[in-house]
Amino acid sequence: MKASAVDYVRAASVADAIALLGRHGDNAKLIAGGQSLLPALNLRLSAPSLLIDIFRLPELQGVSLLPGVLRIGAGCTHAQLLTDPLVAAHAKLIARALADVAHPAIRSRGTIGGSLANADPAAELPACALALGATMLLSGSDGERRVTADRFFTGLFETALAPGELLVAVEIPLAPEARSGFAELARRSGDYAMVGLAAQRTTDETRLAFFSVGATAVLARRAAAALAPGITEATLHAACEALSTDLPSHSDLQASAATRLHLARVILRRVVGAWITA
Ligand code: FAD
Repeated sequence: MKASAVDYVRAASVADAIALLGRHGDNAKLIAGGQSLLPALNLRLSAPSLLIDIFRLPELQGVSLLPGVLRIGAGCTHAQLLTDPLVAAHAKLIARALADVAHPAIRSRGTIGGSLANADPAAELPACALALGATMLLSGSDGERRVTADRFFTGLFETALAPGELLVAVEIPLAPEARSGFAELARRSGDYAMVGLAAQRTTDETRLAFFSVGATAVLARRAAAALAPGITEATLHAACEALSTDLPSHSDLQASAATRLHLARVILRRVVGAWITA
């Protein structure tokens, strides 16, 4: 199938994109890398009359170190972030997860902003944002606002982005003492995961963000609490048990709820087991 006819305009700036969104309302859609949107248009899951291209807008580019946070522009592609030295130094989890996102051709166009705004429950980056305690910087006609990742992903392909708003950047708190871990189980390399886990442990807390387990990525709070006293075989066992309460009971064509829970425990063991010190 092919997309229905659609007009196209390249935004000159973030302000221009916001003005265009304001003028065209629900009839317009932002396009970044197009790696999720174009398949949706081709399947006629969406039929906007105008595409507003924000790919490579200079204001959405770049990774920078600010006081206390790593700021990643929404327009950075997966491929850029995979080799960015600041990401490697301060957000290793993102670099690790991106290695499992699709294939090189898709990673060369897909953007972090597109992935977060798309809020696919099987995508790796929303889970990383939850695990890292990231904050989204949004911009609209009323100015800028910040939304934490745990309030940003509101449902299946739904976010806290209001009509007319655009995701400008993601801010990741610096956590020099943190350990992170990532694992996913997919049928083939590059496929969306059947279940996945992005995790970070700081001196204050453990954040276990599971993806492909329901309508959104999920922070497994009881499992994390079970690990609070320290990472040992006993606390890891308790964390695995707690997943039955933390994770939604989610079946689909890929796996039954029971299989998913089992696989979630397997990857929790893999990721957190590696943190057990002898
Ligand atoms: P687009 O497709 O351009 O946009 C996606 C949505 O986000 C649209 O609704 C658009 O309006 C909105 N949007 C984009 N940018 C912004 C912004 N700055 N502010 C507000 N709204 C915005 N993804 C994974 O996570 N894991 C995978 O394993 C994976 N496998 C894939 C395999 C294939 C074959 C394909 C085609 C895609 C796959 N993807 C996967 C999706 C890919 O990673 C996409 O690049 C990504 O999800 C969306 O990024 P994009 O820049 O292409 O966004």
